[in-house]
Amino acid sequence: MSQIYDRVALIGLGLIASSMFWAIKRAGLAGEVTGYARSEATRDTARSIGLCDRVCDTAQEAVEGADLVVLCVPVGAMGAVAQDIAPMLKPGATVTDVGSVKRSVIEAVSPHIPEGVHFIPAHPLAGTEHSGPEAGFAELYDNRWCLLVPVEGSDPEAIAQLRALWEGMGANVDEMDADHHDLVLAVTSHAPHLIAYTMVGVADDLRRVTDSEVIKYSAAGFRDFTRIAASDPTMWRDVFLTNKDATLEILGRFTEELFALQRAIRTGDGEHLFDYFTRTRAIRRGIIDAGQDTDAPDFGRGKAGS
Ligand code: NAP
Repeated sequence: MSQIYDRVALIGLGLIASSMFWAIKRAGLAGEVTGYARSEATRDTARSIGLCDRVCDTAQEAVEGADLVVLCVPVGAMGAVAQDIAPMLKPGATVTDVGSVKRSVIEAVSPHIPEGVHFIPAHPLAGTEHSGPEAGFAELYDNRWCLLVPVEGSDPEAIAQLRALWEGMGANVDEMDADHHDLVLAVTSHAPHLIAYTMVGVADDLRRVTDSEVIKYSAAGFRDFTRIAASDPTMWRDVFLTNKDATLEILGRFTEELFALQRAIRTGDGEHLFDYFTRTRAIRRGIIDAGQDTDAPDFGRGKAGS
């Protein structure tokens, strides 16, 4: 794979940025990758594990001369970071992000993007429940989707270049409108996370079943909820605060369906339950057929999650 950008700057050095760094290096996609994280502890860790060719003490220093700047911080912090780096952005450079919500990031970041700099929001649909600079690995994006969410008037050449970077990191790339992205992700990721958080909270509150029983017998379904519910609290707080409408719409529908199932259980309506579970089983089959999960026991999960 050949070099796509001369210099890439990663702002925020957690799971997503560190995986990008290792994937960029694996394929030789950039001449130099600079990095910045707000805490000295993260910067020190990054330096000690060789994460980034150069770790800078300020975000402004990291973006100076960069052809591509990637904002890899929680969604709620994107606007402030964009404001901070704006004066140092090189004319003709591209700014992108990896935030899990798109409309609010566009609203927070766009006002700070100077004339002559391209802004192309993006979201890789890949992650694990781990966070921080040591959590990343080069294979995270292999065969996962990355959604590009170009804003009005985005430069086609800049989009093509960013697409080539994600493809070089192993991802499949699609383009999507911001509002549709936020609705799709509310269904596929945000509401499921909230349900997992709730289920783990319920188990914790239920005094008639001890914590040790929950842990010991968790393989029967609960374990996957605990994996999802171990996800980073800051990231997920920001996701729900910024994708409010779409998440509430999906949760409203979820509650209605849950009440219907609850009623079927109470009234002994086995037909309703059977038909419902038959329909949902087909969705699982579709995910496996699309290559987005495996049929293996334990869902074939090693490191990578959803
Ligand atoms: P992470 O591992 O927790 O890393 C977050 C990074 O952002 C850290 O370097 C942290 O700095 C920095 N940061 C946190 N709060 C900040 C603030 N207020 N101002 C400036 N910097 C701040 O997170 P991640 O999983 O890589 O997620 C990063 C972004 O990717 C988020 O927007 C998230 O929505 C998105 N995303 C995540 C996943 C996933 O599954 N994890 C998947 C797709 C997209 P310190 O280390 O110095 O605290």
